[in-house]
Amino acid sequence: MSELDSLYQEVILDHSKRPRNLRKLEGANCQACGYNPLCGDKVQVYLTVRDGRVVDASFEGAGCAISTASASIMTETVKGKTVAEAEALFDGFHDLVTGKAHPGRVDLGKLEVFSGVCDYPTRVKCATLVWHTLRSALEGDRGEVTTE
Ligand code: ZN
Repeated sequence: MSELDSLYQEVILDHSKRPRNLRKLEGANCQACGYNPLCGDKVQVYLTVRDGRVVDASFEGAGCAISTASASIMTETVKGKTVAEAEALFDGFHDLVTGKAHPGRVDLGKLEVFSGVCDYPTRVKCATLVWHTLRSALEGDRGEVTTE
């Protein structure tokens, strides 16, 4: 394993053990829940969106280390972004974890730590669940998202 890989794993482990923004968001005006039946991951995403910008984001839920870390880092990443930027990040992240990286197209920042997920196809849904749920929340969908 390369040094970079182990650094990435440390970041994922840290976020899965001490998730950021793990709480209900009072006053959220967008929310959605997602479920990955393959692994049993469940996540509820809360957003406060004002003037086309995500001003606050949080989540609740229970899942594996990858899904929890992904939710933690996603909420950190989209805070302060416009809805369009958040959607571009979703596309970039999806490409990253499915091994279709387009370097430089979207600056993924900390999301790069999930680049190793593309070697584990069963984990891709764990990593992307919260992003599908984010998109559903942004689109004002009231139904539950599943990865199936
Ligand atoms: Zn999972």
